[in-house]
Amino acid sequence: TYVITLPCVDTKDKACVEECPVDCIYEGDRNLYIHPEECVDCGACEPACPVQAIFYEDDLPESDLDWKDINAVFFDDLGSP
Ligand code: SF4
Repeated sequence: TYVITLPCVDTKDKACVEECPVDCIYEGDRNLYIHPEECVDCGACEPACPVQAIFYEDDLPESDLDWKDINAVFFDDLGSP
């Protein structure tokens, strides 16, 4: 899965949402989240982000590793549809 990180917080540009072919990018209060099971790893969102907040999970910078868990918690809290 791809993961959205800190620069998105309070930015929420949403250019990525337009690019995602499977509509798996969801809006939270302060940032956007990619659903880890719905994402098809196409990579289309990554270059669309104006603040470079999106990374493939294995390419996350050390300082952004927490964001993978933050994403998972967001969708756990939403509950399964
Ligand atoms: Fe959507 Fe593709 Fe980005 Fe995954 S990698 S969130 S499927 S645009």
